Amino acid sequence: MSDPRYDILFTPVKIGPVTAKNRFFQVPHCNGMGHAMPLAHAAMREVKAEGGWAVISTEECEIHPSGDLTPYVEARLWDDRDIPALALMCDKVHAHGALAALELSHNGPSASNLYSREVLLAPSHQPSKYGYPSQARAMTKHDIREYRRWHREAAIRGQRAGMDIIYVYAAHDLSLAMHFLQRRRNQRSDEYGGSLENRVRLLREVLEDTRDAVGDTCGVALRFATEELLGPGGVELAEARDIVGMLAELPDLWDVNVAAWYNDSVPSRFAAEGAQEPFIDFVKKTTSKPVVGVGRFTSPDTMVAQLKRGVLDMIGAARPSIADPYLPKKIEEGRIDDIRECIGCNICVSGDMTISPIRCTQNPTMGEEWRKGWHPERIAPKRTASRVLVVGAGPAGLEAARALGQRGYEVNLAEERRELGGRVTREARLPGLAEWARVRDWRLGQINKMGNVAVYRESMMSAQDVLDFAAEHVVLATGCHWRRDGYGRSNGQGIAGFADNPRVFTPDDIMDGRLPEGCVVVLDDDGFYLASVIAETLRSHGCEVTYLTADDNIAPWSQHTLDYRHIRMRLAELDIEPIVSHAIVGFVGTTLTLEHVWSGHRHELGCDALVTITARLPHDALYQDLLLHEATWANAGIRTLRCIGDAEAPGLIAHAVYAGHRYARELEEPVMREVPFKRHFHGAESGDLLRGG
Ligand code: ADP
Ligand code: SF4
Repeated sequence: MSDPRYDILFTPVKIGPVTAKNRFFQVPHCNGMGHAMPLAHAAMREVKAEGGWAVISTEECEIHPSGDLTPYVEARLWDDRDIPALALMCDKVHAHGALAALELSHNGPSASNLYSREVLLAPSHQPSKYGYPSQARAMTKHDIREYRRWHREAAIRGQRAGMDIIYVYAAHDLSLAMHFLQRRRNQRSDEYGGSLENRVRLLREVLEDTRDAVGDTCGVALRFATEELLGPGGVELAEARDIVGMLAELPDLWDVNVAAWYNDSVPSRFAAEGAQEPFIDFVKKTTSKPVVGVGRFTSPDTMVAQLKRGVLDMIGAARPSIADPYLPKKIEEGRIDDIRECIGCNICVSGDMTISPIRCTQNPTMGEEWRKGWHPERIAPKRTASRVLVVGAGPAGLEAARALGQRGYEVNLAEERRELGGRVTREARLPGLAEWARVRDWRLGQINKMGNVAVYRESMMSAQDVLDFAAEHVVLATGCHWRRDGYGRSNGQGIAGFADNPRVFTPDDIMDGRLPEGCVVVLDDDGFYLASVIAETLRSHGCEVTYLTADDNIAPWSQHTLDYRHIRMRLAELDIEPIVSHAIVGFVGTTLTLEHVWSGHRHELGCDALVTITARLPHDALYQDLLLHEATWANAGIRTLRCIGDAEAPGLIAHAVYAGHRYARELEEPVMREVPFKRHFHGAESGDLLRGG
């Protein structure tokens, strides 16, 4: 039953000539599928429309080959041949009563033009933003007129595709309309540079052009960054207030946020729900037009408070809509406990960053809607009355048990420990990672509602126990542990002096509460978040911490999740200066021998202890033991045995959840073809990308 406190979230809003049916607005977000995988893209957006979002936006959409974002795969409207791919999305979104929104962008010096080989464009001569060894040239007046024409024509193409809202994009330091506002990017001396009025001129013109071109049927939205946190070289709040004042009534909707992307989609480790409020709350006081903003909103109470306190008119969401495409519907139906809350890990972001289809830790169906036919809420019923034994209640085991339970199987989940959740429970106790426990909590919440899933805590399973249990299907999700011997990417032989050294600790020791004292070196050969979290843990425990890596940079993979800058700043705050490009070649007593990876020069470093974060080993002893007894399975009634998640190959929490989900989906289903998903095939004509198989 719906809760009347949340009724306000289900009232309509007028956006120029169109009306959004409620206050839930899926703001533009990248997904790594874009123009290259239009069927997959449209299906992903459709599921959200089905889940109750009133507005479904594209990601940024290139309007011209001179704003080509290759290798990143976003939306594209270079000419009429790009219309069908976006029309597909519009049709699917409209079928569920939602509005489709298109975020037009010309990325200027933040484009690459690696595919088009056009010269980059910018307000003034400057280096390309992303480090390509080429510069962008200053736009002439003719270029500015051309840019305005491209934008107008793309808006019309969007309208023809069926879009209801057309965005002008001036956010994230990613579009010319914003680049003209920035002093560091705009040093022009004509009427487009210098004074604020001049720097705003192009944005105003493009807004007017867009309204002129499509405003009869489409709402015109402005996505605007109010702060870049870069000081006077960037857009700053004081100036942003003036800009909003100058343009207040020009767009039909303001979509406001903080730039760049790493300050907008901040990982939960570094920002809480609603963290952008101090940067955007002034906008509603300045305009009569509806305002949408983001803040990784997953709590309906927070959403209502945003509306009631006059901060926002619409609840914008990218990540919460990825983790739970049905979030609005669940609130509407009073199913608050069923909301699968985003954990703020930004694995979704890593899809775009690594130029691969989006994936999500919490929602294993994200990106699989078309290619695997997976739906976030629906799953095929069980095939037979078989019993399933799941061993291990980490993310893989919990998700397998939950999804098997949803299919109607009789599921028994056995966990060695008293606490459930495996690595998620353990990691969530580390500083900043508390929200990761949502991976466990949502699954347990669902399992607890099921009569057909039994959970056995403190139930260490041996091979004999598994055979005695006599379930038809057995799946082992028994996890992994961190290695102690130094073996890893940068050391294939292990490190002398590590094995059996009581001064060597692993992340498992730390998570078990066994912490070293004194001066501690944290060896990061993992390259993601964990080493910095361990360093932070040790620092607050009172240790002197040295962060050491053989890489040239710390935590390189954290660039893909937008953690990197925040990690650097956190380490700086904690006075932890990393040592890079140094491998450890020996550890004797309290002396480490370090070797510079490029010069080979060695020197010594004293420390009381070391935490080694290199690689992990699966807990697959039970699996190996059962394989040895394969001849006895049939007698025990066991038909299939599988090992999944970290017990198969250690990875991200997202991998484990996906593995559990996939196991449940595929159990007793016909074996899929060699390639277990549908693909897009590229032909010569535009329609061919819409043909998949
Ligand atoms: P994953 O990420 O693959 O889900 P985790 O390490 O998070 O793996 O979880 C594995 C879980 O399995 C842990 O909670 C661990 O206590 C449990 N476990 C490991 N071996 C056994 C076993 N033989 N019997 C029951 N539970 C086990
Ligand atoms: Fe949220 Fe992580 Fe899913 Fe992204 S991947 S939507 S941050 S849970």
